[in-house]
This record gives sequence, structure tokens and C-alpha cells, in this order.
Amino acid sequence: MVIKSNQRTDDLSGLLLDWYDKNRRSLPWREDPAPYHVWLSEIMLQQTRVEAVRGYYARFLEALPTIEALAKADEDLCTKLWQGLGYYSRVRNLHKAAVQIIEDYDGAMPRTSRELQKLAGIGPYTAAAIASICFDERIPAIDGNLLRVFSRMTGYDEDIKSGAAKSAAAEFYDEIFPQKRCGDFNQALMDLGACVCVPNGAPQCEACPWQFCCHAKANGLCHELPYTAPKAARSIEHKTVFLIYYQGRLALRRRPDKGLLAGLYEYPNTDGTLTASEVPEYLRTLGFSAVQAHPLPAAKHIFTHKEWHMTGWEILADEWEEFTSGKPRKHELFLASASDLRDVFSIPSAFAKYTAQIRMDYLE
Ligand code: SF4
Repeated sequence: MVIKSNQRTDDLSGLLLDWYDKNRRSLPWREDPAPYHVWLSEIMLQQTRVEAVRGYYARFLEALPTIEALAKADEDLCTKLWQGLGYYSRVRNLHKAAVQIIEDYDGAMPRTSRELQKLAGIGPYTAAAIASICFDERIPAIDGNLLRVFSRMTGYDEDIKSGAAKSAAAEFYDEIFPQKRCGDFNQALMDLGACVCVPNGAPQCEACPWQFCCHAKANGLCHELPYTAPKAARSIEHKTVFLIYYQGRLALRRRPDKGLLAGLYEYPNTDGTLTASEVPEYLRTLGFSAVQAHPLPAAKHIFTHKEWHMTGWEILADEWEEFTSGKPRKHELFLASASDLRDVFSIPSAFAKYTAQIRMDYLE
């Protein structure tokens, strides 16, 4: 990779580290960068803004202050602490990886990016972030921020989401990466991407330590770079969702362990938009009869690759042939009390509109 300027590479790292020393963001996981803290923060920050993470991070650490505590925790507690952050596979993998660390690494976080990638949920980016910040490994943590800065600095104009772009960025950063303060250098790049070379709106080039050697700035290309190939259209799925009340409880079930929202709890639902006359028939397949049915408002939830367009029904059931109590068996319908809903079972935000419709006064 050729840097399209005459700036020496050691100058680039020095300039950025000086800038970082003066401008670094104060973040809780930076003030106490134990491997567990850095790991937890990096997992929470995937797809989530720093400001949204702060509260979750503090609550999670208060409940589960060590890797050992996390490994011993019930998965439902972990999911509950994550409720609202979304992308729940992250917390399930966090829990799995904690068990791996206890069982396979004597409770100590692995120290190299290669070894870290053997843990559940830790990919190349997270491994590089932990290894550089906690153990000073010389490796760039390439995420959207680093890709954007790379593209603007060098004028890279191919699809920034491609594997080729990641390889080109790795080559660029390898040329300028310092021998020491590797974690600070990655964090400086994260801060530069988040606060100066921003994704939306105009980058703050006048505040950028690399403004004198930036291809995009010199050529007026800040708004054109990075280039992203157009996305495929999202598919649309129609669903009918049921809030079923029976004997002072609400029917829930657990989703399959694989796929979208894997292993989370949900209100019973089925594919398609059922009409009023089709609703009793479907409920009979769940074992409910003698029902009153009232329509609920429609709702829409957008995932990365698909949209759910939902209609809903409030159901008051007098009979359920499969009545059971206690801890649910996997994938089966079960009944939850008001306190179960509040404290135990987390329902993903895809169903938020129906969660808001729950009649707590119907529940015990
Ligand atoms: S000069 Fe501007 S476009 Fe170039 S890296 Fe800095 S902030 Fe980004």
C-alpha cells in the first residue's frame, strides 16, 4: 500500500498518539482496562453507541464482576442484563467464552489475538482490540472506523465492506503501526473515526492530526469516501403475534437455539397475517379454546436483512389443554406471571409494540 503523500510513517503514528494524549475520550473501560472489562465493552459496543453502552456496562459488571461470576451465572440472568441492547447472540457467546476461559485457560484471558479467536463470539476485530489494549500486541483492530479513515487517507475507492478492503487496510496500518503503545494507537484510531473522521456528515478535518497528508481532504473526496456497494433489498415477512392470557398469566415460548433471535423468549406467533376467522383455529393448534379475541395495532421491526410486518391479537382464554407450570421445557409454550415478565424473561425489542400492550392488571 502506498500512502499518497510524502509523510513519513513514523510521523503518522507519533502525530496520532500526541493527538490521542490530548483528546482521548474518558470511558469507564479505559480507566480500568482489565481484560474482562475491555472484552465486555468491545462486545457491547458492536452495533451500539458508546452512550447507550455506559449504563449497561456498569449494571453488567455490578451483577457479574468477574469472568468467574459470568461463567457461573444462569444464561437467563445474562440475557436479562442485556435486554434492550439487541443482538443477543453476543451475550450468549460472552457466557460461553467465560466458561471456556475457566475450563481451558485456568480462568485467565488468553493473551494473543490468535488464541483469543478460539473463544466464542470473538472475531479478528475484538481479538485485536483486546490483545493490543491489554497485552500490547502490534495488530490493528480493523472495524468501520479504521476502514473509513484508511479509505479517506489513501483514496481507496473500492467497496469498503469487501474482504479486499480489509486486507488493504491491514497493509496500510501495518506500515504505520508503532512498535509500542499498540493499544493506545488502536484506541486513538477508534476515537479519530468516532469523533473527527465521522461516518455521517462532514469530517472535522481541521481537528485531524493527519489533515496534511490525507488524500480525501486534498482532493475534496471526503463525502465520496468510503464507497459502499448498494445493499440487496431486505425481505419482508408477515407475522401474527398473540398476547394470550390464561389464569392470570401470559403465554410465552422460547425461540430455537439457532437463527434469528436464537434462544430468546417471545409471544406465540405464526407466519402470515391471520384473519379474525382464522385466529381461533390457530389457537386450537396451541391447545387454547373458548377464547375472546381483540385485535392489537400493527407493528413493524427492521432487522439487517429482513423486516417483520406484524399484526397482533389479545386473547383471553378459558381453557388450555396443555397447562403446565414451572420452568419451561425448550421451545414449548409456558405461562409467565407478572414478576416473571419483569425479572426473568427478556423479550426482544422486535416485539416492543406488543410488550407495550400487555395488560399487567390481567396478570398475577
Ligand atoms: S483529514 Fe479529514 S478526511 Fe482525512 S483522515 Fe482526517 S478527518 Fe478524515
